[in-house]
Amino acid sequence: MKKFCCMLLLLLFVLVLPESGHAATVTGKIFLDGKELTASQGVQVENVNGTVMAPLRMISQNLGYKVDWDQKSQMVTIGQQGKTIQLIVNQKSASVDDKTVILNTAPLLKNDTTFVPIRFISEQFGLTVGWDNQDKIVTLVTPVSAPDTGNDTGTGVVVPPVDTTNLTQVNGVSFNNNQLLITMQGASQPKATLLTNPNRLVVDFPNATFSDVFGTGQLLDPNLNGKLDVVGYPDVSGVRYSLFSTAPYTVRFVVDLNYAKNYTVSISEDENKLVIVDLNAEDSGETGALPGNSGRKLVVLDAGHGAKDSGAVGVTGKYEKAFNLAIVLKAAALLKKEKNIDVVLTRSDDTFLELKERAAIANNLNADLFISVHANSSASSRATGAETYYQRQASKAFATVMHKYLVPATGLSDRGVRYGNFHVIRETKMPAVLLEVGYLSNKGDEALLFTEALQNRVAAAMVSGIKEYLGIK
Ligand SMILES: [Zn+2]
Repeated sequence: MKKFCCMLLLLLFVLVLPESGHAATVTGKIFLDGKELTASQGVQVENVNGTVMAPLRMISQNLGYKVDWDQKSQMVTIGQQGKTIQLIVNQKSASVDDKTVILNTAPLLKNDTTFVPIRFISEQFGLTVGWDNQDKIVTLVTPVSAPDTGNDTGTGVVVPPVDTTNLTQVNGVSFNNNQLLITMQGASQPKATLLTNPNRLVVDFPNATFSDVFGTGQLLDPNLNGKLDVVGYPDVSGVRYSLFSTAPYTVRFVVDLNYAKNYTVSISEDENKLVIVDLNAEDSGETGALPGNSGRKLVVLDAGHGAKDSGAVGVTGKYEKAFNLAIVLKAAALLKKEKNIDVVLTRSDDTFLELKERAAIANNLNADLFISVHANSSASSRATGAETYYQRQASKAFATVMHKYLVPATGLSDRGVRYGNFHVIRETKMPAVLLEVGYLSNKGDEALLFTEALQNRVAAAMVSGIKEYLGIK
């Protein structure tokens, strides 16, 4: 029995997958027992020197194996029925139980995803593996009876693969304005529980898993754990999340609190739902449950600069950051009255955010629109007027609509819809514009920009532009 086992192992290493170019990356498909695994199930196939590599996440989510990841040693441990495989990123030497084996291709880490040789791992656990080189399809077949693994302690029971297609997909998370914001697709009804000692708020999403989108926006280790660094919120020391359970599937978020805190939970009824766990509950009356309407859109408003970064300084010394914030707060107040629009602010006070944090807020939430508000400055004190910038072609139509409303609201000259390679409108993934409302280096513009009347008009113009672009009456 032992001898046969070793021969089988040897055979496995000889049976490398066919070459299809050196270090080629292909978009492949994986079929498990005849059913195609989709991107939301962690599927993404890489062909490295003829070895098909799949994300470790796919293995933990679909094959039912126990997967552990040690960040420090970069070691992957996969266990099933008393058999343990250990692999280390960038090392061809691996172990199966206590035996050392040499892999054709070492596991690799790419974009925070660990890729492992799918054939090697599947076959170790008794699955039949096929590879169609022409169509780049991996077929995995789970054994009907006990796999002959040669393991004396094996019970012969194979954990069946789990169908994750009907689960709610958690797409993103962000912590902003003292609110935990989670986007998802599906019918999961989150349950929040305040726990003490230590104080924390646990929010469970039953029948939910992380979508493939989630891992691109946030840190998610192969064991499906991650955390958000939360800085500058006195109530909160951090946010953690995990695929808490696979039987039944549950995604859990934990807000670590510095003290017990009131909260409200609300869900928009759109297909792409926004769940807001609001820790401002006790000091504001306007943060109750969102009205339940279908077709809600999420708009992220970004007041440029903040805190140590004043932005442009006007001719009389007024700060751009204050103007930007005033506009955004006024626009947000108007948007909150719209029953089909949810609004999230990158900042609602004089705080500093990196540009990438601003873009990440919108991307992590899969927002529908992003608007960054600024005021301009020029070496020439005569420069005056309003400009609307886009960076990606997909944003141009939105920029055109916004500009149409912006110019008359300012009463200033029309300096046009322009291309501008600004980080926040380049790195966001939804239609995104940057408004330069006027010139603080111009005495007339500066005076006008700091009037209530102009600010109210610009805020109303933004709402009109957003509604027209989204087709909301
Ligand atoms: Zn600016």
